[in-house]
Amino acid sequence: MSRGTVLVVGGGIGGLSTGIALRNAGFDVDVVELKQSLHSSVHGVGIIQPVNALRALDAIGCAEACLAVGYSTTAWGQLLDVDGDLIREMPGARIPGSELPPMNGLTRPQLHRILTDKALEVGVTVAYGKTFTTLADGPRGVEVTYSDGTAGTVDYVVGADGVHSKVRPYVLAEDLEPVYLGQSAFRLNIPREPEIDRIVLQHGPDGMAGFVPIGPDLAYLFYNTTWEEGRRLDQDRTADELRERLAPFGGLTGRVRDRYIDDAAQIVFRPEEWLIAPAPWHSGRIVLIGDAVHAVTPHLGQGAAQAIEDGVVLAECLAGTDDHEEAFRAYTGRRYERCRIVVESSVAIGEYEMDPAAHPGFDHAGLTQHVLESMLRPI
Ligand SMILES: Cc1cc2nc3c(=O)[nH]c(=O)nc-3n(C[C@H](O)[C@H](O)[C@H](O)COP(=O)(O)OP(=O)(O)OC[C@H]3O[C@@H](n4cnc5c(N)ncnc54)[C@H](O)[C@@H]3O)c2cc1C
Repeated sequence: MSRGTVLVVGGGIGGLSTGIALRNAGFDVDVVELKQSLHSSVHGVGIIQPVNALRALDAIGCAEACLAVGYSTTAWGQLLDVDGDLIREMPGARIPGSELPPMNGLTRPQLHRILTDKALEVGVTVAYGKTFTTLADGPRGVEVTYSDGTAGTVDYVVGADGVHSKVRPYVLAEDLEPVYLGQSAFRLNIPREPEIDRIVLQHGPDGMAGFVPIGPDLAYLFYNTTWEEGRRLDQDRTADELRERLAPFGGLTGRVRDRYIDDAAQIVFRPEEWLIAPAPWHSGRIVLIGDAVHAVTPHLGQGAAQAIEDGVVLAECLAGTDDHEEAFRAYTGRRYERCRIVVESSVAIGEYEMDPAAHPGFDHAGLTQHVLESMLRPI
């Protein structure tokens, strides 16, 4: 027997994970995704999966498939200086008694394919090119009108529609605007050089270059760099701009700059924004997950991990009681502090990267290790 009907708004990593978890807990789940297809909803670059992401993916039956296509590491990474000399090893964290590696990397399209296939397999429906136009929360359900002219009533709505969420104003008394960190990220897939067998970070004068293995022969380069808010960058200028910014680097970054940064069309350039919504993360029958309530900058590779964990916890809470208010309160209670630590630590690392001299004694590797170990705690 169905435990109820759920509309998930947003078919990103968080929305699909939540859909799978809720369906496995006995709910009927429809996902609506604004973009036109699975492939148009995601960029082709890679994603870091720390061990807590893998644990949450395991709970929804998707970890094995991610490990099979990705690149698992035996440590988190290492930190190098601008010339390529080692500053510090970053061991990362393992869950005692678990075989899961400290980190797995794979491409975003691979992750989306895995989550979408699992969602469809367990009976979630996913509609592309569709969204809601209005939500009316009432005692017996949420009346929803859709962009295709249809309408219906569901028991619960999950807003998983990202940092610029349209569901968020239905939940929070005062809507929030994300905060621009002051950095933007260049990302580009490259052939995997042998030393990219873990995350390799290389500290430059203007930001942090990084390399992540995402397959036996594939890696991606990112460069988190100081960037004036609102400054435009034409796509066809991205390769020149990135090469110029990486000019001071030697070592791995210098080699990659000279060999692989030539095709502007392959470079993804994104601003880094963050927010953390005050608790509670629900109003009535509408609840928020993922970047819609805790958008994270990429410095700890934890944003998607937190969105997946949200979905697992939300499903556990809703399945554990018939009182949805109690379930949603329990959900925020289990999630808020954990997400706050990730958001604030990520922002602190970004601020340090933009101006190391202003943060004497800041221990980038130490904070990363501390957060990774904190994330081992059960969710
Ligand atoms: C440069 C960069 C690098 C990152 N790297 C990593 C990493 O390596 N590891 C990691 O864990 N995290 C990383 N993150 C963070 C991670 O990408 C996000 O935290 C994660 O994608 C959040 O998932 P989400 O499902 O909540 O939101 P999103 O991924 O934003 O998904 C929201 C979905 O909702 C859809 N949508 C939006 N509005 C509507 C609407 N009105 N109706 C229907 N659908 C809608 C969107 O099209 C999208 O598909 C990175 C972020 C950035 C900016």
